[in-house]
Amino acid sequence: MPVSKVEILGVTVDSLTMTEAVSRVEGFIANKKPALIATANAEMIMNATRDEELKNILNGADMVVPDGAGTVWAAHQLGCDMPERVAGYDLAQELLRISPSKGYRVYFFGSAPGVADKAKAKAEELYPGIEICGTRNGYFSEDDENQIVEDIKTAKPDILLAALGVPKQEKWLSKYKDVLGVPVNIGVGGTLDVMAGVMERAPLWMQKAKLEWLFRGLKQPSRIGRLMALPRFVFKVLGSK
Ligand code: UDP
Repeated sequence: MPVSKVEILGVTVDSLTMTEAVSRVEGFIANKKPALIATANAEMIMNATRDEELKNILNGADMVVPDGAGTVWAAHQLGCDMPERVAGYDLAQELLRISPSKGYRVYFFGSAPGVADKAKAKAEELYPGIEICGTRNGYFSEDDENQIVEDIKTAKPDILLAALGVPKQEKWLSKYKDVLGVPVNIGVGGTLDVMAGVMERAPLWMQKAKLEWLFRGLKQPSRIGRLMALPRFVFKVLGSK
């Protein structure tokens, strides 16, 4: 079934539910052809308006889910249907949840040293039987990249979660996905940090009140400047109508 897409400030985002997103990921695994998946929030879309390479990667991606209340709001403002927010963190959890019964192997790549291993331990506790077939932190030089690629290839994951931040994760996955040969490659931002307990996720009431962005800004004062992306996004979307 063709998926409907919405163009927001030049970035094409899929209009789908979490259930549909998970079933498309399963299709990618069955297909075996490397697929790139991005989770687009307002900040990523704003970055893409200034970063042509990121914009082209997103528009060439196999699936771009609407991560964030801002993305869903923008689609509605533009008169398009967008059933719900599909947060990258939630999508990752759904995929980890089904992995033991489906036999999917998962690789955690990114975040500070030790974080991916803690996230692995958490995944093993939450999803018994899961096979996290490798971990690697996200701090490396260009010279390390061949080794990282070899390690991931040897581990043979079905799903590669890359937590290197935006746009590094999207650019890295786009560059290497074909040599890696991993069916599903997703940029997941702070997901491993949250799983490892290094970073807190906003409480449910804040997520429901569409205030997750505010929570992250307050918890990590170094991100305060990044909060400005949201009002800029709102003005740009309204201006593009
Ligand atoms: N990160 C990394 N390598 C880098 C830069 C960042 O592994 O060179 C990690 C960082 O430790 C964090 C994750 O990328 O765990 C996501 O960072 P951020 O919260 O900035 O994510 P974003 O909001 O950009 O998705």
